[in-house]
Amino acid sequence: MPRIYLDYNATTPIDPLVLEEVTSALKNYQGNPSSVYEEGRAARILIEDSREFVRTFLDAGNSGEIIFTGSGSESVNLAIIGSVFAYMRNNKNAIPHIITSRVEHPAVLNTFKFLELHGAETSYIGVNEFGGILMDDLLAAIKESTVLISVMGANNETGTIFPLKQILEEVKKVKEDILFHSDLVQIIGKSYFSLKDIPLDLCSFSGHKFYALKGCGALYVKKGANIDPVIHGGHQERGLRAGTENIAGIVSIAKGLSIFKNNIDEELKRINTLGGAFLDKLFYGIEGIKLNGHPVNRLKNTINVSFDGVKAETLLFNLDLYGVSASAGSACNAGAVSLSHVLKAHGYDVKRIESAIRFSIGRFTTEEDIDYAVSAIKKGVLKLRANPS
Ligand SMILES: *Cc1c(COP(=O)(O)O)cnc(C)c1O
Repeated sequence: MPRIYLDYNATTPIDPLVLEEVTSALKNYQGNPSSVYEEGRAARILIEDSREFVRTFLDAGNSGEIIFTGSGSESVNLAIIGSVFAYMRNNKNAIPHIITSRVEHPAVLNTFKFLELHGAETSYIGVNEFGGILMDDLLAAIKESTVLISVMGANNETGTIFPLKQILEEVKKVKEDILFHSDLVQIIGKSYFSLKDIPLDLCSFSGHKFYALKGCGALYVKKGANIDPVIHGGHQERGLRAGTENIAGIVSIAKGLSIFKNNIDEELKRINTLGGAFLDKLFYGIEGIKLNGHPVNRLKNTINVSFDGVKAETLLFNLDLYGVSASAGSACNAGAVSLSHVLKAHGYDVKRIESAIRFSIGRFTTEEDIDYAVSAIKKGVLKLRANPS
């Protein structure tokens, strides 16, 4: 039985070229990058070269700096908590206000919840049935004390892409000094993105979503964006993230982005075509299904569909037996019976949400994988509809 992995939005397999680069770095660079002798200097150079590469990849020019962190989640925490803490330090009795969307990853939403416990004021902006952010509500929520707005680039559950450039411009027109952060974990290393085109103040990304290692991430911080560190200790990462650097992770991030950059047009064309074919075959082959999220403005690698009369958890269990891996809602919620907060925000009914499965493809997905998966899905759906529990 084959294993068909269709959960690239949860994590990607390591690219063999990344593995090679990481193995060599682990073997050859074992000094502490903060040490001043030869072994330390060599490790330092490797890290700074990686930083430089990532900055160039993002088209950052000299606009800001890359801070390496321990995950996408950590980057998000640093951006949001860091902004709020810096504001509180500089405005002793003021209550900071922060805004985000209802469809963010838990890394953002639970950081907001944490800051609420510490006295911050929060606003959560809804989306329409296609997952598009309610722009008027967002702009209306801005006030004098608004420190930060966090809106993701693309949603991990539905693949819906937000018009970040437009959102950023409109927000800055209302209040220039708001820090605009974007969770770009599903964009950077997977899709086109340039800071020249979309000059965000802060953006987060994660190695294991673009074929690099798990447990490493990065935050871009624009010059002048005032954030305090969250992890304290040594002066690593420009004083914003203490702790001896994860050289393997950092090298993997640079290599992962470099592999993507070298083949960006071809890879996106291939994945988009494959994703389109997957969607067509599903809709052609199985009756009673609905696409969740935006029909057009979405990452074509992400297909979130609801199957009438089927419980997602039961279908996933059957698919696993057939060798197909996918997920219901976001991976972080898998196993839990709670309904997807993302699909709830779309206003879908409970049945549609309970029957929703996310398939996400990537670099190593083939046409044969898709064909096998579609027939397995069809088999599973027909079986469950014939024997409703
Ligand atoms: C995976 C993911 C994260 C978390 O990244 P980690 O490196 O796993 O902490 C944050 N946001 C989005 C949109 C994601 O898909």
